Amino acid sequence: MYDWLFQKYKQNLQPWTTEKELTAQLKEAYLDEAGKLLRSTGQTQPPFDPVAGLRAQNVHDIMDRDALREEAKLVPDELGFILFLRGTHQSYDDDNKELRFVSRLRTTLAHELGHTFFYDTSAKPPRLPVSSVSRLLDHQLGEKEEWWCMDFARAYLVPDFWVERHVKHGDLPSLQVALDLKNELKVSWDILFRRLLWDLKVWHNCIVFRLDLTTMRPQTVWKAGEFKHWSFRNWFNSGGKHAIAKEMSATGLSSERTVRILFDRKKVVNLRILKTEKSVSATGALCRLERPQVSDLGTGLTGYA
Ligand SMILES: [Zn+2]
Repeated sequence: MYDWLFQKYKQNLQPWTTEKELTAQLKEAYLDEAGKLLRSTGQTQPPFDPVAGLRAQNVHDIMDRDALREEAKLVPDELGFILFLRGTHQSYDDDNKELRFVSRLRTTLAHELGHTFFYDTSAKPPRLPVSSVSRLLDHQLGEKEEWWCMDFARAYLVPDFWVERHVKHGDLPSLQVALDLKNELKVSWDILFRRLLWDLKVWHNCIVFRLDLTTMRPQTVWKAGEFKHWSFRNWFNSGGKHAIAKEMSATGLSSERTVRILFDRKKVVNLRILKTEKSVSATGALCRLERPQVSDLGTGLTGYA
């Protein structure tokens, strides 16, 4: 995988000293393909369409195939590629089926789009520069390609050029703003928060979580860098759950509730909760306060590192 990417992108590379640096540069060059493809297909506004990208990469057919083991499979042929998708009539336990389905399908399509860049498309049919046998033997590289394709999907569906223009850097403005962005971009919560908290580091000082309201269990947690070494689960199990449950029952549908809670015994944070209509899950966030108001909760409010 690296040999091929190296050949492909060597003209873009800066000098490097370690393999890690080289890998990071190759990955960046690869992820840049997402923005280039959006520009070359004239896409500047969301929702960004993975099908337009697939067409530009010579995916000439997208077909359903029920018996597929994986969710999607790219098959090269003389004309480019056919993309097979596993039957698109899966059912989801979420009431918000349509939107969730759309965002999931879009993620799958954008992920598969990422795979097309690993092929040598000057060949007919396009071929993987490493034989499929050695790819199968080399699990590590295969796995790495999978991760890179997930990163590619986010870079394509939530492109940096759009984020730079439309999302303000700083603390998480509100979960309602996040929901509006999610709807506008037609992406899942996972894509949105990974992209904004992890990849682009646009929103800081927060932990966002999804909570199953029937079991009161956290489903997914996204932490901004400042909370990297802090365990949400420990906090949740030692009192956090109780604090959230109390506020949750006071939260109406489709309105965001923000309260200050004592956090880790000595800090105060904003707890935000958003319950969207007809959903069995809620989205919550813990946000550090920019300027803690010591007078609000007495002493012991230092230590906001
Ligand atoms: Zn894949």
